[in-house]
Amino acid sequence: MNTNPTPDQMSIDNGNDTSALARKQAAEAAERRQQGQITSPVIVSRPDHIIQHLWSKDPDFFAPVGPGNLVFLVEKTLFCIHAWDFKTISPILSGLSVLGRRAEIYATRQESSSSLDGQPISENEPPNSEANPIVLKEPATAAGFRALLKWLYPHHHDNGPLSQEDWKSLLPVAHFYQVEKAFKTAVAELDPKRYYLEPTQRLWCALAYDIPEWIRPTLAELIRSDQQLLKDQVDRLKCFHEPAFRTLIAVRATLVRHRHRLIILPPTVTHSEDCVAGSRTEHCQERWNRIWRDSCLHLISCTGWVGGMTVEVYLEDAVDQVQKLASSECLRLTLSDVNARGILWRKETQIEEQGMKDIIGPRFVLPVLE
Ligand SMILES: [Zn+2]
Repeated sequence: MNTNPTPDQMSIDNGNDTSALARKQAAEAAERRQQGQITSPVIVSRPDHIIQHLWSKDPDFFAPVGPGNLVFLVEKTLFCIHAWDFKTISPILSGLSVLGRRAEIYATRQESSSSLDGQPISENEPPNSEANPIVLKEPATAAGFRALLKWLYPHHHDNGPLSQEDWKSLLPVAHFYQVEKAFKTAVAELDPKRYYLEPTQRLWCALAYDIPEWIRPTLAELIRSDQQLLKDQVDRLKCFHEPAFRTLIAVRATLVRHRHRLIILPPTVTHSEDCVAGSRTEHCQERWNRIWRDSCLHLISCTGWVGGMTVEVYLEDAVDQVQKLASSECLRLTLSDVNARGILWRKETQIEEQGMKDIIGPRFVLPVLE
């Protein structure tokens, strides 16, 4: 009697190991998410995956169902893909692929929207069929899974290269299934300099998916804006750190107060030796105060962000103008003193730096300022 395992039995045996691995990896991923304690801002209603007549096949990524192919259901879209293709890109998807070939596959059925794994639609239908696909739940979306397949099979669709919307949908899917290469490319494609992503969304992604290079620019954008936040933006901030929104408002207010104080209290003039000898010191201070206040007004009169450096340029211009009319070495000395002491920007930088730390809270690390 031939006791060698058949190819099918082999795959089932391998399946035991791999399915255990996949469950372990999915559980670890879930645990990591829990440790980060970032709850998704997406409100997921009861999924439609139990209502079969709502399903439709993806027009580009539905290969004929057959041996070696896997049928996935993501939201309401069915995908059929060759199992082998996941082997090299994602340990988790690859594990699920083997799960899809077994009758008793399906990992734990959990009602929590954050749980994910192959789930049976039906106990009676054969697994991995159109009627009984492997269900991928949040954070997988049909758009995200489709974007992942567009990335994986660049020649199997007519949509051209991935759009930035595709990369945006792909990001959570690539992160969750550990498709490292796709994840890195998505991060690069969605770079803040290349793509506008609403800042609370970007910050949420940066912290949830561990993208340190997005944290500082996004926090700076939030702090420097005077735009009021909408309710969903506020909710998103609270997702990762409950006091984040209140802290953001407080930091903005501290900056404004600091700027007002600067205008009210111009620095004392550093007089030149000639000036002191000629006893014209009061006159110098008056002129300096006027230049200082006019220039500093730009700090608060613009609706957008004006940094201390910009005001420095205004001051410099004003001092130049005064010097054309009359020699005023004192103003020049005072300006270089202001620059040397960083009066216009050092305190703001400190406020902003502390504000960034306070907004993200103690559970996340603010990347070091380069
Ligand atoms: Zn003077």
